[in-house]
Amino acid sequence: MKKALTLFLNIIILFGLFGLFCLFGLFGCTSKAKEHSVENELYNEQETDYEKEEGYVQEIYFVQKVDKLQRLSREKSKAIKENTSTSSVTPETIITVTTTPESDKTVKTNTDRKTVVIDPGHGAGGNREEERQSPDSEVMKIKDPGGAQGVSSRIPEYVVNMEVALKLKTLLEQNNVNVVMTKIDNNVSPGNIERAETGNINNADLEIRIHCDSAADKSANGASMLVPAPIGYAVDISSISREYGQVILNSLVTEAGMYNRGVIERKDLTGFNWSKVPVVLVEMGFMSSPNEDNLLNDNSYQDKLAVGLCNGIFESLGLN
Ligand SMILES: [Zn+2]
Repeated sequence: MKKALTLFLNIIILFGLFGLFCLFGLFGCTSKAKEHSVENELYNEQETDYEKEEGYVQEIYFVQKVDKLQRLSREKSKAIKENTSTSSVTPETIITVTTTPESDKTVKTNTDRKTVVIDPGHGAGGNREEERQSPDSEVMKIKDPGGAQGVSSRIPEYVVNMEVALKLKTLLEQNNVNVVMTKIDNNVSPGNIERAETGNINNADLEIRIHCDSAADKSANGASMLVPAPIGYAVDISSISREYGQVILNSLVTEAGMYNRGVIERKDLTGFNWSKVPVVLVEMGFMSSPNEDNLLNDNSYQDKLAVGLCNGIFESLGLN
């Protein structure tokens, strides 16, 4: 009986141990399952994060791609604009907007319109400043000593010069010639380099300088035409200037009925030496002569002077 009791107790203990074993075993399974679950969650989070990251990368890539497309689009638009603006500048446009001598020549060829610069000599009070007589010389010369004065009328030369210059301007413009004045104000007297530059800048077909003469001998009379010697910038235009000067002088004396004193070449005139375009200087008569002083201040005689000069300019420039 005692053996049977001991056996029963042992069996109970064994069951108890088995139960405990199973209990611990179950806990262990549950823990492992939990651990696995956590791992999965972590993995899932990582996957989720990775997906998010991948998505983020894709988003960045997408943004970058859009940026690139937009940049390419902008660059393309810019290129198109540039091409468009370049292609829209037609040769005609260039001729219209540029002011290069080449374009001026082209325009003149198309319109057959000549440009004459008229330079009314002197100005009130003169100009005591000095300037170089020639680009290849160190000699300095006064800009404007003031000019002559009517021996009888006491009228200054610059007044007569301007009156005839404006009449000539009107006649030339009426005949489709483009006229540029070096000055229109009697109170100013630009230097002779500046006067020459007006011709150069405008690529003039001719610059005509309007003056009256004066001499100690009151009997001196008639018109003369001064032309540049082949020095300074005038090397290239000396010959053509002489030709033009001769034609214009002949026309003037014929129209006004005065003595022809001829063409005189001068190498000391600043306004000649700085000129790159044909240039002449007309002396329309002597203000020191009582007779010519009166004539030079007569309106109808001034008209004749202007007509004579205009006809000569037309003939010399081939406009007849
Ligand atoms: Zn003068």
